[in-house]
Amino acid sequence: MLEKLVKESRALEKAIAGEDLTYDDGIELMSYDNLYMLGAAADLIRQKKVGQQVTFAASYYLNYTNVCAASCQMCAFYRKGNESDAYALSAKDIEGRVAMAKNLGATEVHIVGGFHPDLPLEYYEEMFKTIKTSHPQMHIKALTAAEIFFLARLTKNSVKEVLTRLKTAGLDTMPGGGAELFHPDIRNKIVRGKCSGQEWLDTIEQAHNLGIKSNVTMLFGHIEKPEHIIDHLVKIREVQKRTKGFLTLIPLKFSLDNTELEKKGLVTSESSSTYDLRVTAVSRLMLANQLDNISVYWVALGKKLAQVALTYGGNDLVGTAFSEEIYRAAGKGTNSSIIELANMIKEIGREPVQRDTFFNILKKF
Ligand code: SF4
Repeated sequence: MLEKLVKESRALEKAIAGEDLTYDDGIELMSYDNLYMLGAAADLIRQKKVGQQVTFAASYYLNYTNVCAASCQMCAFYRKGNESDAYALSAKDIEGRVAMAKNLGATEVHIVGGFHPDLPLEYYEEMFKTIKTSHPQMHIKALTAAEIFFLARLTKNSVKEVLTRLKTAGLDTMPGGGAELFHPDIRNKIVRGKCSGQEWLDTIEQAHNLGIKSNVTMLFGHIEKPEHIIDHLVKIREVQKRTKGFLTLIPLKFSLDNTELEKKGLVTSESSSTYDLRVTAVSRLMLANQLDNISVYWVALGKKLAQVALTYGGNDLVGTAFSEEIYRAAGKGTNSSIIELANMIKEIGREPVQRDTFFNILKKF
């Protein structure tokens, strides 16, 4: 039935047949007028790849500092070092927070922060060693490729040297943040003082080559055009073909409140729910043959739209996001229990599964 209906779109026909889509196919799908059909095709491919299960991790977010040498126009989180609410956690603070994470049932700590200009590489090494000494089973998913690149520049080490030292200290995997959108036309308008898209990609490829797997994100719903979304997905696909190091793509809906883009009137409202669903579906279709997991970040979408996005190609809810602060700074309520996430999935007739960071099954509900 679906095969007959998609005949009106050559790109959808190719997707259903299991062929890789080209850049031009992606552009076509970003403006394809039958959103329902787009979602149905993405859902069909999701079903073929990963079946009915929807996964999530019990994840504790730890933002070690909000001090940042950069000042991105899309960010509501950063502070300058002299502001009254600027902070940087000590290794002891962090150990206490990881103990809390463990009590909440978290299996991973997701550690990211600003580009602190005064913290040496030893700060991060001590952080990871302290966590692994007290909580050897806790998975450390830490530092985006953008933070690693900053640290390399700051400490005058190569990216490879920084990654190697941090891996030795206990770094297990890396989160996907800092990717934003790779295309320079957009990136230069939404970030200030952060690595280029190519530098992000080169850094993550080096991490993958050292055996450090990662996620990858895509920040959408601000000032981008369809070609910037497709460019981003094609570049992810190219790295993935070489390294197989990405675990999931997490499309992140831009959250407006308290950002410079909002204050300057450059973005006046957040993206529509139909656009959010289109981005989810096109992500699934463009990466169908390279990446099994397309995550739906419920913190950014809200729980109800996240449920719908799970029927537009999504198969993962990322995690419980215990203690998340970055979206909170941009006006989004966060935090959910394991049971709440499992119930969200049951409500749409799918099978909830708690996973570890590598998408191994830990528990079915
Ligand atoms: S997005 Fe990251 S790098 Fe940019 S200002 Fe915010 S904390 Fe700093």
